[in-house]
Amino acid sequence: MQINVSQLLRESIGATRDYRINEVVDISGNNEGSQVEGECHLLRTQRSILTTCSLSTDVKLTCSRCLNSFSYPLKMKFEEEYFPTVDAATGVSLPPPEEASTFTIDEHHILDLTEAIRQYLLLDIPMKPLCKIDCAGLCQKCGKNLNEGNCDCVKQEIDPRWSELTRLL
Ligand SMILES: [Zn+2]
Ligand SMILES: [Zn+2]
Repeated sequence: MQINVSQLLRESIGATRDYRINEVVDISGNNEGSQVEGECHLLRTQRSILTTCSLSTDVKLTCSRCLNSFSYPLKMKFEEEYFPTVDAATGVSLPPPEEASTFTIDEHHILDLTEAIRQYLLLDIPMKPLCKIDCAGLCQKCGKNLNEGNCDCVKQEIDPRWSELTRLL
């Protein structure tokens, strides 16, 4: 997701560009790309290019209970500043931005959105994804996926606290 901003960097402050995004991004690094769609708005500021993106995608996740893979829709909006590393008009190197974690535009004036998209998507992915809120998970004994129906182990198990109560009654 690379945009050449050499022209925009030469324009005056306040100049803008709009881009439609429709690309595959490998979010989790497992080579399973996710199709990312949406729009990015670029604004030339005095010191940088301010990028505002509104994107959506579906990521493939593995349910933490039943281990089935499922598709999880994500929508995100973010705003990031991209700092040029060379002056677009003169080609002279510019001092690095003060904050080390900011994004930069490379010496060929390429603004690469991939890393920002990947970071923002990762923020939105749940730590323990569930294929559905009431996912029944796997049977601890036989490993059957309980979303597909009960196994025979479940019925035999009685909570010891209840069996004690039954005895007293
Ligand atoms: Zn599940
Ligand atoms: Zn079972």
